[in-house]
Amino acid sequence: MEGIKKLKVLIVSSEVAPFMKTGGLGDVCGSLPKALKRQGVDIRAVLPKYKDINAELIKDISFLTSFDVSLSWRRQKADVYYKKYDFPMYFIDNDYYFNRDGIYGHYDDGERFAFFSKAVLDMLPAVDFIPDVIHLNDWQTGPVSLFLKETYKDFLIFKNTKTLFTIHNLQFQGNFGADMFDMFEAPEEVYKRTEFDGKLSFMKTGIEFSDLINTVSKTYMYEIQTPAFGCRMENVIRSRSGSLKGVLNGIDFEEYNPETDKAIYQNYNSSSFYLKHENKKRLRQEIGLNDWEVPLLGMVSRLTSQKGFDIFLEAAQRILDMNVELAVLGTGESYIENALKELEGRNPGRVKIILGFNEALAHKIYAASDFFVMPSYFEPCGLSQIIALRYGSVPIVRKVGGLNDTVWQYNSYNRSGNGFVFENYDANALIWSVGEALGAYRSGEWENIVKNAMASNFSWEASAKEYIDIYKGLMKE
Ligand code: ADP
Repeated sequence: MEGIKKLKVLIVSSEVAPFMKTGGLGDVCGSLPKALKRQGVDIRAVLPKYKDINAELIKDISFLTSFDVSLSWRRQKADVYYKKYDFPMYFIDNDYYFNRDGIYGHYDDGERFAFFSKAVLDMLPAVDFIPDVIHLNDWQTGPVSLFLKETYKDFLIFKNTKTLFTIHNLQFQGNFGADMFDMFEAPEEVYKRTEFDGKLSFMKTGIEFSDLINTVSKTYMYEIQTPAFGCRMENVIRSRSGSLKGVLNGIDFEEYNPETDKAIYQNYNSSSFYLKHENKKRLRQEIGLNDWEVPLLGMVSRLTSQKGFDIFLEAAQRILDMNVELAVLGTGESYIENALKELEGRNPGRVKIILGFNEALAHKIYAASDFFVMPSYFEPCGLSQIIALRYGSVPIVRKVGGLNDTVWQYNSYNRSGNGFVFENYDANALIWSVGEALGAYRSGEWENIVKNAMASNFSWEASAKEYIDIYKGLMKE
């Protein structure tokens, strides 16, 4: 890299693992920067300094600077902190907006993330880092693109700075009261480009004002241009289809590595995958499942209808009657939590439902389970099935979104495929697919299927290269 100007990129996100994660967004914004750094990018990331960040992880941050941020008549102070970490991490703090329990779901989320978005831009000259590309992620960061194109359009320092907006999940759109548009102090005609259904939409703002947009798998990129998956924004997306790409997410192969993972009971690799059995035995003891010689189905998931729980709940008892055990870790909508608990009550010792968010237990379930069930209604990319593949927990998935781009039906004729796939969003289709998977488990094919799963390579290296090409393309515009 000597002599060549490094590409400068800033990742802006409401989640960056391990500091903050509620799902795949956190994983992606924590692991993509590491892969970009390995490929020579000057990559940095910025996150709000939430009260809920584990204090141990940020005990060594240093204070850099502070300034006032104004959103029309609202004025709040932003304090910027820095941590060296694997890549430079910035944290933006404001007591009023971020010193609260829970990171989303507050009455003033629009104002909180507009503040964050503007503070990010105000921070850049102060920390002497003017990126070539600002990489935005989901609705929380959509306003950055508007501030850059409107409020700061005459600022020479940002003259060459481009924006990429990644849609991780179109369902969450950040739609707020239209009166909040005053925060942007932009001319009235700009409102039309932010308006969706009479509301001010941060998702639409990001789509409209960013130089380029991408989603997290090729299949989802096509799907969101249709009414079935567009969450009513399909026309907004289609109007920018010429600037839309699909880049599959990866996972951090160091962090998710059954050979070295400290969270699991027994390390193993694809040659010693039979040692998974020890993980299964110990997990059963820990969570209180019968130690029977039956396959274990695992799920680690937000408990929402997106993840396919409507058909799963309909199918669950018939699946259990095929002589399997089930371990589910997740939190989410109460009707799903209650129905799962009821299933557990009806099947003592054969079903365990653990309600909560628990990173270590998640790893144990990936390592212990024989199958990973993910019957999603829609799935932008999905990381859980990619993690499951890595741990040799064979995925049973619906053919949708990123699941379609990562899991292929096992074919016993040519021994190809790494999982089991069904198409219709229907309990019977799921039951049929589980039956097929169990047939394979009990056949001589099993070792081959697990090996195919564990050999699936969805690390970040290839996708990080695609992002670098996108960043470079933007710089030429
Ligand atoms: P989404 O982002 O839609 O929730 P993904 O499959 O992309 O789904 O990513 C989910 C990530 O969050 C995975 O790393 C998964 O292991 C993790 N996860 C989900 N629920 C839990 C939980 N209850 N405890 C620990 N990790 C969880």
